[in-house]
Amino acid sequence: MALIVQKYGGTSVANPERIKNVARRIARFKAQGHQIVVVVSAMSGETNKLIALAKEMQAVPDPRELDAVVCTGEQVTTGLLAMGLKAIGVDARSYTGAQVKVLTDSTFTKARILSIDEANIRRDLDAGKVVIVAGFQGVDADGNITTLGRGGSDTSGVALAAALKADECQIYTDVDGVYTTDPRVVPEAKKLDTITFEEMLEMASLGSKVLQIRSVEFAGKYKVKLRVLSSFQDEGEGTLITVEEDKNMEQPIISGIAFNRDEAKLTMLGVPDTPGIAYQILGSIADANIDVDMIIQNVGHDGTTDFSFTVNRGDYAKAQGILETVKQKLGAREVTGDNKICKVSAVGVGMRSHPGVASKMFKALADEGINIQMISTSEIKISVVLDEKYLELAVRVLHRTFGLDQ
Ligand code: ADP
Ligand code: ASP
Ligand code: MG
Repeated sequence: MALIVQKYGGTSVANPERIKNVARRIARFKAQGHQIVVVVSAMSGETNKLIALAKEMQAVPDPRELDAVVCTGEQVTTGLLAMGLKAIGVDARSYTGAQVKVLTDSTFTKARILSIDEANIRRDLDAGKVVIVAGFQGVDADGNITTLGRGGSDTSGVALAAALKADECQIYTDVDGVYTTDPRVVPEAKKLDTITFEEMLEMASLGSKVLQIRSVEFAGKYKVKLRVLSSFQDEGEGTLITVEEDKNMEQPIISGIAFNRDEAKLTMLGVPDTPGIAYQILGSIADANIDVDMIIQNVGHDGTTDFSFTVNRGDYAKAQGILETVKQKLGAREVTGDNKICKVSAVGVGMRSHPGVASKMFKALADEGINIQMISTSEIKISVVLDEKYLELAVRVLHRTFGLDQ
């Protein structure tokens, strides 16, 4: 007998038929003698609908009240799935995050999980029930409802698995595993049987939304056995996220191509080249709670330099406004920007032992006439910023260049 946490995403519970299908899958696991805790997302499209509703009331919705609204999508699914299970003779019980007591900090709309109370869940499991928990949500120390950020049900699933010391956390979604790149963009993408935590972390943080990045962090930290599978197939092992890279196996140099359309670039031209410039520019951006991704400062010339960085596209206008103010203060020449850019990254632990990956990547892009605007590298990834119109082409070309379609 194993304790398994299963998380079902939005498309897997999109309508009553699919929820019934999920119920049948759970019943099969239950019949094999396993204890099952299920985490569900809102039915697909529901969270977007709820956010749109909130915006009709207030252009920038109050974060506490926004969480009170958006958490309801998941609650609906828990009740429906519990009914679906009871209808086929499986005893089940639904919980909101607050009912379990998934305790979080008070950062509304992107709260972090602090602890999970196991008592209710253990009691129900011991009584032979399937426990169904609403994903994406928790409660803070003052009893306020919080949510965990878009895609946060993945993190709910992994956090529950960690708290319960589950034997496995299964993330059921609309693809049958983690692919070499988004199969919606590159149909030739191949499913990976395994991927290391390190690589999965990079893939998630660089834009592959198949897993929320925090869920991967959690799984790595608490050694949760994490697997991504399809809820639309009865067979298949999915993709296992592994702690250790297999030392016996020849690692592929590149494991996957990630991308993010959601980027914007800002540049301050003609900044006086004196100590403290980076701090003055980025400090004011950080004070406005805007995350900065890539940063480039050019070699100074004639006492001035140019300074560029990228932000989330949603923060573009706000960041531009701030830079205009900083420009006045610093006596810089001009602020320019571009919110039609994207970031494409090659990820792989094999890069460590293979030089020349970057030049291979740059040549492949050059051969297609794609101009690289910014570059950033780490031990196991190379990212480039490109004009958004080249995104699909660049991803396809790099996928082929690194032999990922083989
Ligand atoms: P869910 O609603 O189940 O949480 P998501 O839409 O959040 O599902 O995540 C699944 C989607 O992630 C897939 O449909 C796929 O388009 C996308 N995706 C992006 N990158 C990858 C990748 N490398 N492997 C698999 N899926 C990916
Ligand atoms: N329903 C939430 C969202 O759409 C959480 C999730 O699906 O993981 O972001
Ligand atoms: Mg998701």
